[in-house]
This record gives sequence, C-alpha cells and structure tokens, in this order.
Amino acid sequence: MKIYADNAATTKMSRDAIDAMIPYMEEIYGNPSSLYEIGQIAKESLENARARVAKVLNCEPREIYFTSGGSEADNQAIISAAKIGERKGKKHIISTKFEHHAVLHTLNKLEKEGFEITLLDVHSNGVVTAKQVEDAIREDTALVTIMYANNEIGTVQPIEEIGKVCREKNVFFHTDAVQAIGHVPVDVQKDNIDMLSLSAHKFHGPKGVGVLYAKKNIFLSNIIEGGAQERGKRAGTENLPGIMGMTVALEKAVANLDNYTVKLLPLRDKLIAGLDKISYSELNGDRDARVPGTVNFCFEGIEGESLLLLLDDKGISASSGSACTSGSLDPSHVLLAIGRPHEVAHGSLRLSLGEDTTEEEIDYIIKSVSEVVDYLRNMSPFWRDLVNGKRPHVFAE
Ligand SMILES: *Cc1c(COP(=O)(O)O)cnc(C)c1O
Repeated sequence: MKIYADNAATTKMSRDAIDAMIPYMEEIYGNPSSLYEIGQIAKESLENARARVAKVLNCEPREIYFTSGGSEADNQAIISAAKIGERKGKKHIISTKFEHHAVLHTLNKLEKEGFEITLLDVHSNGVVTAKQVEDAIREDTALVTIMYANNEIGTVQPIEEIGKVCREKNVFFHTDAVQAIGHVPVDVQKDNIDMLSLSAHKFHGPKGVGVLYAKKNIFLSNIIEGGAQERGKRAGTENLPGIMGMTVALEKAVANLDNYTVKLLPLRDKLIAGLDKISYSELNGDRDARVPGTVNFCFEGIEGESLLLLLDDKGISASSGSACTSGSLDPSHVLLAIGRPHEVAHGSLRLSLGEDTTEEEIDYIIKSVSEVVDYLRNMSPFWRDLVNGKRPHVFAE
C-alpha cells in the first residue's frame, strides 16, 4: 500500500488545476505587460483570476497581490506593517511562539533592526486566546501576526475574535492562513483580517505561487524591486500558468469544504482514537479546535526520524516536526511552545490526510504506527529505563 499522509507539507495537484494551466503555457503565453493581443489576453486572464480570488476571500480585486508563495506573502505583510509602524514611531509587534518560520525569521530580522517582538505563549491545547492578544497590545504596537491554523499540529486559532480585538485597538492584523484555506471557512471581512497569506501548493494547486491579501488602505513595501507588476508592489513577470492553476484549485477547495469536512472528520477522529490506544502516547493540540485533516502525536521513547523511515518502508509518507526535517537536532518549536518536554517532542508524528484518504488507509496507518512504535521501543535503551522505572514517564499509560 502507498499512502500519502503529508498533505500539510504539500499536496498533489488536482486535474482541474493542471488543466487550467496548460493553455497558459501553450497558447496564451504572452506577457501580461505586452500591448499586442496575446499579451492583452493574458492580462485579462490575470485580472479575471484576481477577481475570482478576491471573491473567494470576500475582498476587492485590488486587495489581492500574487506572490511566489506563502513565505513571500508572510515576509511582505510583516515588513510592510513594520515600516508603516516605524514611520509613526510604533516599533512593537505581537506574534506567537508557534508560527511558521517564514513569520518567525522575518520577526527575528526586524528585532535586529530595533523592533520589539512579543511572542505569545501558546496554551497546551495549541490555541492562543484573544484575551492574550488584548493584554499584549500597547500604544506602540504596529502589528499582530497570528497564524490561522498551525502547520504542525493543525490547531485553529480564534481568528475572528483576535481580529476584533485588533480592530478595536486600531492595530494591523495579519494571519498566515496557508493551512486554513480549504480546511475551515475563511472570510477576511467576517474575520476582521487586514492582511492574509496563502500558498497554492497546500490546496492542490501548483508550487511557487501564492497570494497576499492586503486591505486597500495598507501601503505595501516591496520585497522584490523591478517592474511595475502587481500595481508596483511586486516586480517580476507574473506566473500566469501558476496563478490560473491556483485560482481553480482555490475555488474548488473552498466550494468542496463542506463535503471535505463531512468526509474527513470521522476519519481523523478514528485515527486519533486508534493512535490514542498506543501506550504512553498523546495527541498534540486540542481535539476539536483543529483542521479536519491534521493529526499529530507524541510517543514516549521514540525518535521521530526512525519512526518516519520505518513508516516509509511500509509505504506511508508522513512527517515529524523534529530534527531531520529541519536539518537540526532541535525538537520542533511548535511542540516546545505547547509545553512538550524535549524528550517527548523528539518522538512526534504528523499525519495530514487529504480528500483522497480512505478508511482502509486509516486502518493501515493505525496498525503500522502501532507496530513500528512497539518495534522501536523494544530496541531502545531509553525505553528500557522507562519500563524499569529508572526514568519517570511523561505521559500516563
Ligand atoms: C507551507 C507554509 C508556508 C510556506 O508557504 P510556501 O508557499 O511553501 O512558501 C507558510 N506558512 C505555513 C503555515 C505553511 O504551512
């Protein structure tokens, strides 16, 4: 059996998205900035895509900027808000400890440039509250940036309430919604969002293309300088095939959200119940405040990498937030943020399901993970110490 359970890392492109791209490589390959016919047809398609994306997010077309993906959108949103704040003498930014590195590393850079960054603690259930945000906002706060859904553990934040607090306090609010769109309803008006980032390859679109939504009163700073594309805010010839594929994938993901949720929730909950039966294991993040597809567990006495390699042998593609994936020996900053101790944070497993996931696959995953965890524990001197009582357990049995 071959099972892809790493949809939070990237997704397979949908046939519709691929089909939507092909004409823009074979026929309508003109540069949207060119004045002759195939340039102008390309330009019309680009503006049509912008209007369609705006409709999905419930904003105006001129508030949509096409980028190279989620990372670029996060960088541009944060740097723009920082520069606007700086001009008004506001150099404080609020975020959380469990953001994506596209956010955290941008904030690190700003900190070196003299900004003060407050990273909010995340509760053990993987959720940040609006009250925490409210308490952290100061006179000199330029931006609040908090992800909609976490990429490692899948927990969903109370974005509408957080946005409301920011509106009341007159502070810009950005959200990295890369893991949320197509998984939970997102509406920039209802959710009080000023800026939002998306990435096409997380919802069955192509890699290397994304969206920055920025409310029309926000003056964006350029990350990429050059031509006057994207109303002068993002230089470079537009990736029109990618944009067309992304637009179709986005419309489809959002239109299919109800079906997807109804299909995935029972599978997700079956997976959680099955993995919960493994001794000394715990689900990471709230049971309910999570996207329908993502499940993340910690197992005591296990190294995440060994688990992944053995699951790969059984045909299962999954992920672990720790070590190898990030090329370092540090455990996942997300698991540490929700209070997992180092030794447990190393033994994590993320399984992210998709619309093609079947019940047979869930059964096979549960069986395989149980076998592999047993196998690894039997070989582990660390586990032996736990069993012999030489070390205390972190989790209950
Ligand atoms: C994948 C991801 C990103 C980065 O998006 P890219 O398009 O790969 O640059 C940013 N934030 C979150 C939460 C993600 O999951």
